[in-house]
Amino acid sequence: MQDFVYQNAPMRVVFGTGTLRRLPDELSHLGATRALVLATPRQKDLVADIRQMIGERFAGVFTGAVMHTPVEVTERAMQTVRDVQADCLIAIGGGSTTGLGKAIALRTDLPQIVLPTSYAGSEMTPVVGQTSGGIKTTQSSPKILPEVVIYDVDLTVTMPPKLSATSGINAIAHAAEALYARDRNPLISLIAQESIRTLAQALPRICAQPSDGAARTDALYGAWLSGVCLGAVGMALHHKLCHALGGAFNLPHAETHTVILPHALAYNAPAAPDAMARIAAALGAQDPALGLQDLARKLAVPTSLREIGMPENGIDQAADLAVKNPYWNPRPVERDAIRELVARAWRGDAPETGRAVV
Ligand code: NAD
Repeated sequence: MQDFVYQNAPMRVVFGTGTLRRLPDELSHLGATRALVLATPRQKDLVADIRQMIGERFAGVFTGAVMHTPVEVTERAMQTVRDVQADCLIAIGGGSTTGLGKAIALRTDLPQIVLPTSYAGSEMTPVVGQTSGGIKTTQSSPKILPEVVIYDVDLTVTMPPKLSATSGINAIAHAAEALYARDRNPLISLIAQESIRTLAQALPRICAQPSDGAARTDALYGAWLSGVCLGAVGMALHHKLCHALGGAFNLPHAETHTVILPHALAYNAPAAPDAMARIAAALGAQDPALGLQDLARKLAVPTSLREIGMPENGIDQAADLAVKNPYWNPRPVERDAIRELVARAWRGDAPETGRAVV
């Protein structure tokens, strides 16, 4: 085992079914009296429920959260923060809404209660990615880490099967890269393996029966664990490549992760055999890369960048972007090999594992 440093994140997690009803108590716990609710228009019924539930402590609502946290949207939300004199933020939604809450917290240090409705995992990290002039940059600060996360399984059952599948594989990606992170540690590695195992078993059950409460509970549990991994250790090639592809071609976040993950794992496999063995064991597969692509096929979600809207003539640009800013990866990031990886992912080929595909 390599030497390690481990630091616990100072946050409170409430997990279960119907836990939205714990929101008033959590507000009291924080001593908040003027909560601003952040959401998207699709959560308007939930916002009405929250308003009813917290009564006078409902200071206002901002429903303009969008993907990639554009700074113009954050500035508009900041005006609402000032207008209603908010002393707390309640973010209910997927990673985009969580991102808006984090961007406001970065500017104000207001406490945040996050109610995730997808498996993105952003709620567990002190990082926010913000977009300005078409460029997305990430920033980390203790102010960004939410104080309270309420995981309510009921909030996730409305996710359609395909979104559940890709969002779940997006979560698996956090756990998979945590297993070979440069700053990995034994506790996070255990959590990562459990996260992959739980999600890989739950997602097919959800796709077969979207209202399966036990499967939804398992998947949200796995997603929480993957968020813990993402918040605790550094990510590598897979996350950097998805970030670059999403920014350059405006590709959907969770689908991009789903397509790239098998290829990124195949790329890193020769340099991280222990991590690969643990991912394979968690998936119940012989090979982690092939096992993940098989899972995606079984869930009937896209396995090529072509299907999710990337132009073929973007392959070279993607390879250039992937090697532009150096970052740590278990295997050196070489342009020609990355170009081949992106080309395979674009076509939807099997990952280059060095094994015959049967
Ligand atoms: P999202 O919040 O944009 O949601 C994706 C889609 O799913 C949206 O159309 C949304 O309305 C819908 N949706 C969400 N929950 C639903 C539900 N319960 N029922 C029905 N529809 C639902 O995207 P996401 O995939 O949740 O998160 C991706 C964003 O989060 C990206 O911008 C990504 O960069 C960011 N992210 C940040 C971090 C971090 O640590 N900073 C980590 C992970 C993701």
